[in-house]
Amino acid sequence: MINLETPIEDVPNIGLAYYKKLKKLGIKTIQDLLFYFPVRYEDFSNIIPINQIKVGQISCVQGRILHIENTQTYKKWMIITEAEIEDETGTIKALWFNQPFLTKSLRQDDFVCMAGKVSLSKKGVYLNNPAFEKISEISENDDLTHTGRIIPVYSETKGVTSKWLRYIIKPLLEYFYDKMPEMLPPEILKKYKFLPLKEAICNIHFPESFEHADAAKARFSFENLFLLQLSMLRERAKLMQKTAFTCPMDAALMKKFTESLPFQLTDSQRQCAFQILKDIEKPVPMSRLLEGDVGSGKTVVATMAALNVIKGGYPAFAKASTGKQVAFMAPTEILASQHFKGISKMLEKFNINVGYLTGKESFVYKNGKITEMKKKDLLLELEFSQINILIGTHSLIQKTVKFSKLALVIIDEQHRFGVSQRAELTKNSKLVPHLLSMTATPIPRTLALTVYGDLDLSLIKEMPKNRKKIKTIIVNPEERKSAYDFIHKEVKDGKGVFVICPKIGKEEGENDSAPISGSFTPKNYNTSLLGALETKTVKQEYEKLSKEVFPDLRITMLHGKMKTEEKQRVMLDFKKGEIDILISTSVVEVGVDVPRATVMMIEGAERFGLAQLHQFRGRVGRNDMQSYCFLFTTDPSQLNRKRLKALVDSDNGFELAQKDLEIRGPGQLYGAEQSGLPDVAMEGMLNIFLVEKTRAAAKEIIEKDPELKNYPILLEQVKNFKQRIHFE
Ligand code: ADP
Ligand code: MG
Repeated sequence: MINLETPIEDVPNIGLAYYKKLKKLGIKTIQDLLFYFPVRYEDFSNIIPINQIKVGQISCVQGRILHIENTQTYKKWMIITEAEIEDETGTIKALWFNQPFLTKSLRQDDFVCMAGKVSLSKKGVYLNNPAFEKISEISENDDLTHTGRIIPVYSETKGVTSKWLRYIIKPLLEYFYDKMPEMLPPEILKKYKFLPLKEAICNIHFPESFEHADAAKARFSFENLFLLQLSMLRERAKLMQKTAFTCPMDAALMKKFTESLPFQLTDSQRQCAFQILKDIEKPVPMSRLLEGDVGSGKTVVATMAALNVIKGGYPAFAKASTGKQVAFMAPTEILASQHFKGISKMLEKFNINVGYLTGKESFVYKNGKITEMKKKDLLLELEFSQINILIGTHSLIQKTVKFSKLALVIIDEQHRFGVSQRAELTKNSKLVPHLLSMTATPIPRTLALTVYGDLDLSLIKEMPKNRKKIKTIIVNPEERKSAYDFIHKEVKDGKGVFVICPKIGKEEGENDSAPISGSFTPKNYNTSLLGALETKTVKQEYEKLSKEVFPDLRITMLHGKMKTEEKQRVMLDFKKGEIDILISTSVVEVGVDVPRATVMMIEGAERFGLAQLHQFRGRVGRNDMQSYCFLFTTDPSQLNRKRLKALVDSDNGFELAQKDLEIRGPGQLYGAEQSGLPDVAMEGMLNIFLVEKTRAAAKEIIEKDPELKNYPILLEQVKNFKQRIHFE
């Protein structure tokens, strides 16, 4: 007996050779095969009498083979199979090229159905290379697979043709018609008038009409997003049952803090801080994403939350604290160290001990001083609550790092990273810490409601008031000289210049576009190959700029192969104004803060996504000076123009991210197809109506039945689904 889980090698008619090929398509079981959906359809549904055939049209006819034979062409060394078919109204020729074996399967007097393009040559009208299948006799009701209907066309691999797939899938559909468990709850089927699974699956492969195909597709797009939503909401519901530290909001403390800053918070910063502070008052773990363009001032908001956790309820200047601790994780050492210094400084009046830990270094900030401290000692102090905030890289997630009372985890620039890592940080604790994740990547609403569906969103909508709009200029090859002149002048005025160049060449399996800032992990930029590539392009650019273009300026490069200390020294020199121009690739350091830099110059701008270009641009314009972003491009194509123009016209990260999403697809936002999401779901993610519909439906179910006790099939599917997807 076969069932849906039966491996395909056990299916009659699938030989070993096919088994291997199907595996390449990701098909391992019968279920996979049935869910291998066509990419498009061919309409051969209109069977016409032979005498109504018109040249140039795709036509389908039925008839008897009068004769069939192979002939050889002398000039082209080609074998032509020629047949003639007859019905009551007339005859027509059919020609196939280089398929001599056809005469073995098609013989004189066979009844066939044929579909293909009607062509005209010197010899007359003929069907060009038609699809065909044998039929018992001429009748309208024949159960056709490859002709005489709307036929499915699949994404093919060498040796697995659509014809073969149709031949295998069709009988399976018939066999399993009543054996496929319906996973959508009946109330959902009814409410949205979806086709039941068995009908949907038959109609996605062999639709009775295009309307049927659309109806089937609608069901499956819904189904996939619905599973995604359920899986997100279920995680969330689970988390809501856990307990977190309550950290009462201390308004006086917060006031004192904001008054100690050299600037006024923007309204957005205030609102976001308030949302966060309200969240961490509750005994349920917060899961919040703080989103704001580069330079919008997320760090200070996070620092407020940290301060409130540690000192909330105690006099600000008192030695004592609540004993609660905060972990602050950044994606790179440079960023972590920038945060360590910045946050220590912001908190200097509040008597807080800040630790710093990376793979190589450990420091501590106490009583207004930063000093080196042995890792062992730092960890001991952490365990005994002598350290209030620990700032660092991934090295915070190590067995040896033990917090005594971890109440809040802050994660900078790592998208969804935090959700799964939170668990790692709290293995020893009964209480779950609150999570605040920060990102500068604008998240379109469709994605906020899907892949980020388990996070609450706080949005910093405005930039600090002193900022000027950055002027963005597309530079064509012939305008280079004048752009260089302008940049030279800026440097002579004491401004700093960033140069970004794309990496050239690609890694095995890598797609063309550079990663979106913030979404990369150290794993994929530390690879030596990538390191070598980026070093090469950076070096080339360095040679060019320092020897030919700006021989009189102080130019330095920053690349992944440099040691951290070296990188830090370079960044510091650049900040201080001892370096004029800093050259790096896209992968180097998101979020660095250099207020004196006013020029961002991007080489090969066509190679980056809009959202990413927008992020680069955000590294300048961080004080009240006019800043500029030069997009150097050599690609004259319309599409590229249009894309770059969008960047010139808009300084709204959301708009640009939405455009990026439309142009490059959601896969790009998550490292190509690696998310494991089926195409239908990916497509669905662009459709806000569908996203909202699935979310509402999932909410309704989860609110009634958070454990999905009454929906065993659905629960099973959600679990499977969760295993398949990975957004990290
Ligand atoms: P991001 O959101 O990109 O992480 P940062 O937190 O690094 O931004 O802040 C960027 C710069 O803006 C920092 O130098 C910070 O001190 C400054 N800043 C933050 N908030 C304000 C504000 N409200 N007014 C003026 N400057 C601000
Ligand atoms: Mg930042």
